Amino acid sequence: PKTLRLILGDQLNHKHSWFSSPDDSVTYVLMEMRQETDYVLHHIQKVVAFFAAMREFAAWLEERGHRVVYYKLDDAENQQDLTRNLDQLIDQHGFERFEYLLPDEYRLDEQLRKYAGKLSLETAARDTEHFITQRSDLREFFGDKNYLMETFYRDIRKKHGWLMTGSGPEGGKWNYDHQNRKSLPKNVEVVTPRTFRNDVSDIVELLEKEGVKTFGSIDPEKFIWPVNREQSLTVLRFFLDECFANFGDYQDAMHTDHWSMFHSRVSFAMNSKLISPTEVVERAIAYYRENDSVELAAVEGFVRQIIGWREFMRGVYWAKMPDYETENYLNHRRHLPEFYWTGKTKMNCLHHAIDQSLEHAYAHHIQRLMITGNFALLANIDPDPVDDWYLGIYIDAIQWVELPNTRGMSQFADGGLVATKPYISSANYINKMSNYCKGCHYDHKEKTGEKACPFNSLYWNFLMRHEEKFADNGRMNMMYSLLNRKSSEEKEALIRQAESYLRRIDEL
Ligand code: FAD
Ligand code: SF4
Repeated sequence: PKTLRLILGDQLNHKHSWFSSPDDSVTYVLMEMRQETDYVLHHIQKVVAFFAAMREFAAWLEERGHRVVYYKLDDAENQQDLTRNLDQLIDQHGFERFEYLLPDEYRLDEQLRKYAGKLSLETAARDTEHFITQRSDLREFFGDKNYLMETFYRDIRKKHGWLMTGSGPEGGKWNYDHQNRKSLPKNVEVVTPRTFRNDVSDIVELLEKEGVKTFGSIDPEKFIWPVNREQSLTVLRFFLDECFANFGDYQDAMHTDHWSMFHSRVSFAMNSKLISPTEVVERAIAYYRENDSVELAAVEGFVRQIIGWREFMRGVYWAKMPDYETENYLNHRRHLPEFYWTGKTKMNCLHHAIDQSLEHAYAHHIQRLMITGNFALLANIDPDPVDDWYLGIYIDAIQWVELPNTRGMSQFADGGLVATKPYISSANYINKMSNYCKGCHYDHKEKTGEKACPFNSLYWNFLMRHEEKFADNGRMNMMYSLLNRKSSEEKEALIRQAESYLRRIDEL
């Protein structure tokens, strides 16, 4: 039958069995739409990266002899809405069958499921052949038990034989995280990240012409992110050659001069499906086998992010949506401070983490978790605007992975489903892991007074405020025993300081 096959912007999997050989009865469609540019306020680089990658993918399909319809944002026929566009195409071309790839976002999954349900044509939904586990695997694996990333991760390693010696983990241990928490010493040189000079002026002009609202900056003639498979593989190769050996050691380190440290920056390439997690993991393991410079702790730490955290987060998303989107366990209600959109704050750590996010649409994990996320959590910010911010600002932000990371891991709004304790810290940790405090208006050692670092009083205030919820959490015993050693005067002074900071949060 004459078939229409839909490819969404984050389904650019060159290796998918759909594309193994051209078939004249099949037409593929990709569309740039206001539906997708406007569901949240996006960083301009995020919109541009997806459009540029979609255009390259469509060209690749055509080169291989596939039939392709591509709607640009300003095409006269473009209805700017997924189902309206599909209706129009089916009408115009007389398709007899409609097929789509299972979306990774709940929003699109519902939209397409409902649409296909109403169509009078034959329809089918196919797997994207990208992930290592299926949507429902995590839910079935744990059943009623608590979700634990470590158990899920070990199961995947066993099933695939990754870093295994017989039935046990290579090196005798499953987890080398304790070796992976160093700050950056003076004698370790950080490489300049390998970026691209893609000319995306046409897309930037198009977005301006069509009045698409975005934020953040971009250099249209030197767009730095990979937009095709070849560039994605280049980023991965650069990581393996230049960063991998140091990845584990400095995974949690932050520095004002280095925006991506030794991180891989493969998240956009993977989330758009230009490269697959299996491919990344197998190349990393092969590299480790061939190169003495890379230690087991580094490869295990990297593999854990991809087959552990990434697959786990996806499983949580599908197990808990749509309720997950509105959870607010700690009942946090404050507005998101304006400086999240401008980087204009006297707090040097936030200033740097936000500024580089506005400049590159990227911050590495510890900046997201322990700087911007930590502050939002300590300051009782409403998880809704926090989610919107993370969903908009990062090049790799797609809801299935953004939401469990933000609402779950970072804001504890799911009551501890993803994180067994809230990820909070005072200035002490930030000072240990970065050079931010050295150039700061505030004093990381002070808890009260004019120059006191806001993270300090907000940290103790958070613990006091939520004592009922956390006092029985075994993983927080240390924090609460330190709190309980404080005199009531000391506690009151901390509360007063925190409250005065919260009252003028936009001026911090
Ligand atoms: P590396 O540090 O080099 O790690 C390699 C890969 O491991 C990443 O590309 C990513 O695919 C995977 N990975 C690592 N940590 C996680 C994690 N916690 N969850 C899922 N995958 C992980 N990641 C996204 O891809 N999209 C998001 O929208 C997103 N939002 C986040 C929001 C918050 C509040 C936090 C704390 C984390 C978020 N992450 C998100 C996870 C992580 O921070 C990014 O995947 C990572 O920073 C991407 O940079 P990288 O490719 O250089 O990662
Ligand atoms: Fe951040 Fe406080 Fe350090 Fe300043 S002193 S950089 S606000 S942790």
